[in-house]
Amino acid sequence: MRAFYHPDQSIHDPQQYMRYGRVVAPKDLPERTARLLGALARHGIAPERPASHGTGPVLEIHDAGFVRFLETAWARWQDLPAERGPEVWPNTFPYWSGRPEETVRAPCRPTGFIGQLGWYLGDMSVPIGEHCWRSTLLSAETAVTAADAVIAGERAVYSLCRPSGHHARADRASGFCYLNNTAIAAQRLRSKFSKVAILDVDAHHGDGTQQIFYRRDDVLTISVHADPSNYYPFYTGYEDERGNGPGEGFNLNLPLPHGAGGDEMAAAVDRAGEVIKAFGADVVIVALGYDAHRDDPIGVLKLDAADFGTIATKVKSFGLPTLVVQEGGYAIEAIGECLDAFLGGFKA
Ligand SMILES: [Zn+2]
Repeated sequence: MRAFYHPDQSIHDPQQYMRYGRVVAPKDLPERTARLLGALARHGIAPERPASHGTGPVLEIHDAGFVRFLETAWARWQDLPAERGPEVWPNTFPYWSGRPEETVRAPCRPTGFIGQLGWYLGDMSVPIGEHCWRSTLLSAETAVTAADAVIAGERAVYSLCRPSGHHARADRASGFCYLNNTAIAAQRLRSKFSKVAILDVDAHHGDGTQQIFYRRDDVLTISVHADPSNYYPFYTGYEDERGNGPGEGFNLNLPLPHGAGGDEMAAAVDRAGEVIKAFGADVVIVALGYDAHRDDPIGVLKLDAADFGTIATKVKSFGLPTLVVQEGGYAIEAIGECLDAFLGGFKA
């Protein structure tokens, strides 16, 4: 399996995260990339650097004002009074219903920086530091370059994306995610493949990915995740969200009860496989997170590392060209083993 990654994806080093009313250390540690690279090395895979694509492929998915905001936020933050914090962080959140059929918000009206912060940063887990944009754009370029390899005929490619992407909506960052790498890659794959299926097995609902494709019938979105009624992202990820308009029937959520383990995950992936087959997918993207692992510091599921091997074996049995896009997973001691197991399962 070929893999893609740029070393500067690890220079994004967020310092703040709000949890239970306290500012705590973020979970998306730069060290995550070292652990995942270690797993690749154990399989003899040397990741290649992504090609430079700029923001072109990003703007196929994301709102131009939002992208410009991400690109310039750090410089604009320097203009705030000296008592500003160490990173770009919002202090206002505009009312928005979160209803999934509302796929497009009105354009952001405030021209001022503080108002735009609240509009474009959906929660307090997406601080923007000095290197955030560079890592974020490289992460997207890694996904695009990996998609191009699949387009060129590779059967399976891994894109080591960091920061992750699946919580990023077309015009909003949230949940450690700034640009939606999975969605950007899916759009890229559409240049060759008529029907793209996305299977998201991160423990959190892939709400950004769902929103982006909610009204489309050419990209099937399936997410297996912990029941969101008491778990991030809370407001979406329920079974009755099935798509809207032309996208009706092309979104499937398979929430798992908290405490579920490998058997429940395996059954959900089997169900996803049936739906992907019925859809007639030409290619599949696996949005792969490891926060379903039992040791994850923000997890509620009980998978073991070996269970990610089972997921891979099932995905391989779909018999489709496969692009794996890295999403979350925060148990530093476990994520290397999880990727290791996934690669082993895919090879077997
Ligand atoms: Zn997650």
